[in-house]
Amino acid sequence: MNDVTQFTRADWQARAAALRFRNQIWIDGRAVPAASGARFESVNPATGAVLTDVARGGAEDIDRAVASARRAFEDGRWSRKTPAERKEVLLRLAALIRENVPELALLDSLDMGKLVKDASTIDAPGSAHFFQWHAEAIDKIYDEIAPTGGRDLAMVRRVPLGVVGAVVPWNFPLDMATWKLAPALATGNSVVLKPAEQSPLSALRLAELAAEAGLPDGVLNVVPGFGEDAGQALGRHADVDCLVFTGSTAVGKMFQRYAGESNMKQVWLETGGKSPNLIFPDADLDAAADMAAFGIFFNQGEVCSANSRMLVHASIAEEMIERMAARAAQAQPGDPLDPASAMGPLVDRKHADTVMGFIASGKQAGRLVCGGERIARDASDAYVQPTIFTDLRPDARVVREEIFGPVLTIQTFKTEDEALAMANDSPYALAASVWTRDLGRALSVSDRLNAGTVSVNTVDALSAMTPFGGMKQSGFGRDLSIHSFDKYSALKTTWIKY
Ligand code: NAD
Repeated sequence: MNDVTQFTRADWQARAAALRFRNQIWIDGRAVPAASGARFESVNPATGAVLTDVARGGAEDIDRAVASARRAFEDGRWSRKTPAERKEVLLRLAALIRENVPELALLDSLDMGKLVKDASTIDAPGSAHFFQWHAEAIDKIYDEIAPTGGRDLAMVRRVPLGVVGAVVPWNFPLDMATWKLAPALATGNSVVLKPAEQSPLSALRLAELAAEAGLPDGVLNVVPGFGEDAGQALGRHADVDCLVFTGSTAVGKMFQRYAGESNMKQVWLETGGKSPNLIFPDADLDAAADMAAFGIFFNQGEVCSANSRMLVHASIAEEMIERMAARAAQAQPGDPLDPASAMGPLVDRKHADTVMGFIASGKQAGRLVCGGERIARDASDAYVQPTIFTDLRPDARVVREEIFGPVLTIQTFKTEDEALAMANDSPYALAASVWTRDLGRALSVSDRLNAGTVSVNTVDALSAMTPFGGMKQSGFGRDLSIHSFDKYSALKTTWIKY
């Protein structure tokens, strides 16, 4: 039986017990230990138990991985395949991901605490879909002939860049890796991927599946390790042509510095967010509350585009606060392997400490509507209640800073202009939502909201067909959609006189 929606907690537990973890570095199509021999523990935040110990890649391993990627790129084993040939391999990879959804979903769930029911119906099938989408797109993009006229033929072609370094976070380990790998590989580049130290396991399994699909050795290398050593070494490497990053704004800025201080590699950043959700009085308030709860409690609120700031018209504020408190009561955390759980633990104790620090500051700066406590389960104390604050000072930390946990702030406004001023008053500009039945208002507010994606009467609208990314300190460059290929290719002109 492979219908994951029918799996019980016992089914998932049995599969978890039978898992074999890939825990070496993947270079040149082989699993190898770290040059230093160092290893680090991968801990299940739901229980505090050690899952396995993983090779801890450092600068020497990054060097080996980049050298392997460079050899593969230069000899053309992948870079000079036709787009249709690359498509076939990536479609096989998508099919293999689909065959292995339960395993890939479990790896992410055990590694970082997300609900396995979400990982198996959203993350892992999503990864297959994103590989498939980019694979299918790549042999449908035409190059250009410039309109020079005369006896000149100026061809403008897209060419792969060479070696791409990809550094990704832990909140959607498989999908964040896929969002980089699918377009990077489809365009013919070689890649060195560094997954987050909290969640390296699905990326290592993905590398194996890519090899099984026929991706030539060296085209995809995966180096698990810590940010300050493996991540920094990749960011500073002189033979990496392009570095794509998803993670925090603070670390994103480091990658710009690394590039400036090394070989001026291209750097593309998808970073933090503090996304506003504007609720006008004419909205469908039940639908708005349902989706707002999804927007902040899905994946424990560990979502870059989480709708963490609700801005609600003063005339409906009390009704919305009541609705949100009722939704929060339904979103209590539990065992991520239990299909009945509404949230899992946060990624680790350290992050739970950070989120609890924000909650403590919120208690000083406003009124706690619900939640606000940490919950101990099994041997883990990484579970945090869904939490809502209101009556906050506008300069409160919980209003201004990205918390990356299940914490919602609710503020009120009286006019559209005031709502927009509050919404745009942030260093971030990743996503925003607007709830209203008035089409004119929906469009004019959307026009004035500073965000990469504005969702109207929904939250977090996203698909392989639409670009995803931010403005201001949420980053630049776009993942997904046909535009994602821009980051992984250069325009090259060949001019022929005849
Ligand atoms: P993080 O910035 O701490 O880590 C992300 C990656 O960078 C990890 O692989 C980590 O090892 C590496 N890293 C950390 N320090 C480094 C250093 N000094 N040098 C080089 N590499 C380093 O972020 P996180 O805690 O893993 O993820 C949460 C953040 O990611 C949030 O800010 C969230 O908003 C952001 N995020 C953004 C998007 C988006 O698309 N905009 C998507 C998901 C997550």
